[in-house]
Amino acid sequence: MPKIAIGGLIHETHTFLEKLTTIEDFENRGVDWGQGAIDANREVHGYIQGFVEVLEAAGVEMVGTVSAAAGVHGYVTDEAFELYSGAMVDAIREAMPVDGVLLSLHGAMVTVRYPRAEAEVVRRIRAVVGDDVPIMVTLDLHANEDQALTDVADAVFACKEYPHTDTRETGEAAAHCMLRTLAGTFRPAMAIQKPGIISPSIFQWTGASPMRDFRVRADAWEAQHPEIAYISIAPGFGYADVPDVGATVIVVTDEDKALAEEVARDISNFMWERREELADKPILKTEDAAEKAMALVAEGKTPVVMADGADRTGDNTLLLRALLDMGASNLALSSMHDPQAARDCIDAGVGAHVKVRCGGWGQASGEPLQLEGEVTHVADGQYVLTGPMGRGGTVHCGPTATLDIGDGNRIILTSLNHQVRDAEGFRAFGVDPLEMDILIVRSRIHFRAYYEDVAGAIVEVDAPGMGPADLSVLTYHNIPADTYPVGRHWR
Ligand SMILES: [Zn+2]
Repeated sequence: MPKIAIGGLIHETHTFLEKLTTIEDFENRGVDWGQGAIDANREVHGYIQGFVEVLEAAGVEMVGTVSAAAGVHGYVTDEAFELYSGAMVDAIREAMPVDGVLLSLHGAMVTVRYPRAEAEVVRRIRAVVGDDVPIMVTLDLHANEDQALTDVADAVFACKEYPHTDTRETGEAAAHCMLRTLAGTFRPAMAIQKPGIISPSIFQWTGASPMRDFRVRADAWEAQHPEIAYISIAPGFGYADVPDVGATVIVVTDEDKALAEEVARDISNFMWERREELADKPILKTEDAAEKAMALVAEGKTPVVMADGADRTGDNTLLLRALLDMGASNLALSSMHDPQAARDCIDAGVGAHVKVRCGGWGQASGEPLQLEGEVTHVADGQYVLTGPMGRGGTVHCGPTATLDIGDGNRIILTSLNHQVRDAEGFRAFGVDPLEMDILIVRSRIHFRAYYEDVAGAIVEVDAPGMGPADLSVLTYHNIPADTYPVGRHWR
C-alpha cells in the first residue's frame, strides 16, 4: 500500500496592508501538527477532508505534517513561513520513503523573501522526495500562480466555485489523480496560461457572468475529451503587488501535453475577450448604496444584505455612518473589528449601558464612530459554520460583544477580523439575521453561499477601503506592465 504525506499552508497575502502576517495570526486560526493535520480536518468541509476521504477509502497510509492558515494581512514573516514550511519538510523527511505528497495551498501567499511562496514550499519538498515522487497541489480560486509552481508540482487543482463550496471536491479530484498516478493508470501532463488580467474579488462570483461562462467553456472541453482530468480557472487575488499576480488557467490531462496547452490557451483567450466584465466595471459607492438599501427596505425586500466588499480590515465606519445618518433601523453589522471596543463592552457586561469608540483604525477605514447603547451579548467569539461553505469549520473572532445602539440597530464587535459566511455569523452573537431589515457583512462573495437564498436583496458596495472594486486607486510596482487594467501600459 502506498504512503502519502498530507499538508496544508494557506494564506492570501494582501501586500498593500502594513500589518505583517505573523505566527500569532496563524495560531489565532488554530494550527494542527502531525497526525492532527489529518484528524482536525476530517469533519471540516475542505481540501484536506477531500484528500482524507479518498485515501482512507483506498486503504492508503497517510502521514500528517502540518495544517496552518491565517486571516488576511500583509506579507507573511520569514519566521512564520520557515516554521510551517519547515515542519512540513521535516515531517516528510522523517516519513521517507513516501510515495506521494498532497498539499492544500492557497496560491496567493507572499512572504517577505518569497513572492512565489507556494512554489518555494513545493521546491523544498521536491528536494527531499526527489523527482519520481508525485507532488500534487490544490489551490484556492484566488491563487496568483505562474510557471514557477507548475514546473515543480506534478498536478495542480484550483477550486471552481466562488463562494468556495467545492473545496472538498477539489481535494477529492487531486487525491483520485494521485492514486491513479501511483497505480500507473494516469500520467499527469499539465499546461498553464496567464491571460494577463487582474480583477477585484467582488466581480469573480461564479454564479454570474463572466466567471460562469468561463466554466461552461471548460466543462464543454472536459465533456469532449475524457483525457482531461481537471481545468482550473483562478481569477486570482488582485490585492497583491507581485509578478505572478492575476488570472491563471491550469489544465491537467492524462499524458496529453498538447491538448492541455490547447485548452489552456483557448480559455485564457476567452477570458481576455471578456476582461472588462471581469476587471473593470462600476458598482455603487457608499452613499448611493445606502440610499438603495433604504429604498429596498421600504419596498419590503428584507433582509437587504449589504456587501461591504472593499473593507479588508473589518473596521471601516463609512457605510455604517451613512446608513445611521439616513435613519436606518433594525440593522445589524457583522462585524466591527475592534478589540478595545469589544473589551470595553465585555468588561461592562450584558445589560450595561456603555459608550465606546469603535472602528476607523485601518489605513482606509474612515473616522472612528462614537457609539452608545446596551450590551446585549458577550461571547468568546468561536462558532461553527453550518452553511454550504466550510461546514463544520470553527471560526475564531476572539472576545466578541453585541451592542444595541437603539432603533433596533445592533453592532457586533469582534477582536479579530471576521467574514460572515452563513447565519452563524450573526446568530452566534444573539442576532437573528432573518429578522433584520439591513445586514452589513464584510464580505465580497462568500456570504452568497447562504444569503443568496434568504436575502430579500443584495447590494454590493464599493466603499473606500483596502479591497476596492476600482483597482486603479492602488499603486502597483511589481506586476507585469501589460497586466489589464492597471499595469503600466494600461495607465
Ligand atoms: Zn478565495
